[in-house]
Amino acid sequence: MSFSLDKILRPHIAYLQPYSSARDEYSGKEGVFLDANENPYGSLTEDAFNRYPDPYQLEIKQKLSLIKNIPSDQIFLGNGSDEAIDLLFRAFCIPGKDNVIILPPTYGMYEVSAGINDVMVKKVNLTADFHLRPKEIVEAIDDHTKIIFICSPNNPSGNSLKKDDIDYIIHHFNGLVVLDEAYIDFTTEASYIGKLDKLKNLMIIQTFSKAWGLASLRIGMAFASKEIIRIINRIKPPYNISGLTQVKVLEALAQADKKDEMVSRILKEKIFLEEQLAQLPIVLHIYPSDANFLLMKVTDAKKIYGFLIEDQIIIRDRSKVVLCEQCLRITVGTREENTTLLTSLSKYSNLNERP
Ligand SMILES: *Cc1c(COP(=O)(O)O)cnc(C)c1O
Repeated sequence: MSFSLDKILRPHIAYLQPYSSARDEYSGKEGVFLDANENPYGSLTEDAFNRYPDPYQLEIKQKLSLIKNIPSDQIFLGNGSDEAIDLLFRAFCIPGKDNVIILPPTYGMYEVSAGINDVMVKKVNLTADFHLRPKEIVEAIDDHTKIIFICSPNNPSGNSLKKDDIDYIIHHFNGLVVLDEAYIDFTTEASYIGKLDKLKNLMIIQTFSKAWGLASLRIGMAFASKEIIRIINRIKPPYNISGLTQVKVLEALAQADKKDEMVSRILKEKIFLEEQLAQLPIVLHIYPSDANFLLMKVTDAKKIYGFLIEDQIIIRDRSKVVLCEQCLRITVGTREENTTLLTSLSKYSNLNERP
């Protein structure tokens, strides 16, 4: 294993001259700002948004640095984690030539982002119980494989992948391993952030959209070596995180303990929901979940999904996804929402499954 960032970087990115924004050239807060063609009188909103925001979101990164125990220059913030994923394709994958490996069933954005960037996708399915096939994955690597996407806890199955398997892949690949930890707050498994010092070919993705309850703000995090972070900072849109988002994220970060309280409530509800679902005759199997959702195999996924829609209860039909035949994915809601769902499912059971 000999990872070299220069070897996987697209040559034109190495020589790219990034856009230098007004706020790059002078980053002080005090002064008379006549550099960015802003409106000097303010905004028509209660709070003022007339000034361009910090392009590198340093205040947020300082706070995150303490919470995540990693230096600020190893943190990237994107317009959702999806932006980080897209920037990786642009930095490392030559369209029509390079490829990436994904591990279905997995998060859909990796393949969509590959498609947008005209990058070929190789697939190595998980096992029937949704674990990695490390040997097969390593065998699928060729000279043009730039990125392997691993999602743990995995969406849509919900389970955490085995550390030994993840480590094996990282150690047998000269390209970049992206470990998507969108659901890390819901599990007792440790994040891989602590291992970044040793693993130079690893990028970890997390998000404010799930446990932090900020999906609408669109902000995701990536953690990697400072060399990798520097590259994606060079190619990102200059002001990719809005000023409003930055204010609100700082507000949330100041109350990180309350995030943990919400997570505990969600985890308690997950146990309740799982116990109740297991008693329904239409539920054939509930997969073990380290996330804030449950994947379950049912008697007739399409019909049950449609029945719930009629009751204005929206879940995710995953039955067309590989290895997820007859499977539905349910996000853990509040007690009231979960009870509404369970009532509707009982109604379906009584109408359809009794002789
Ligand atoms: C929800 C989710 C994300 C988060 O995406 P954002 O763009 O940050 O909202 C990332 N990865 C996985 C696997 C997810 O399920």
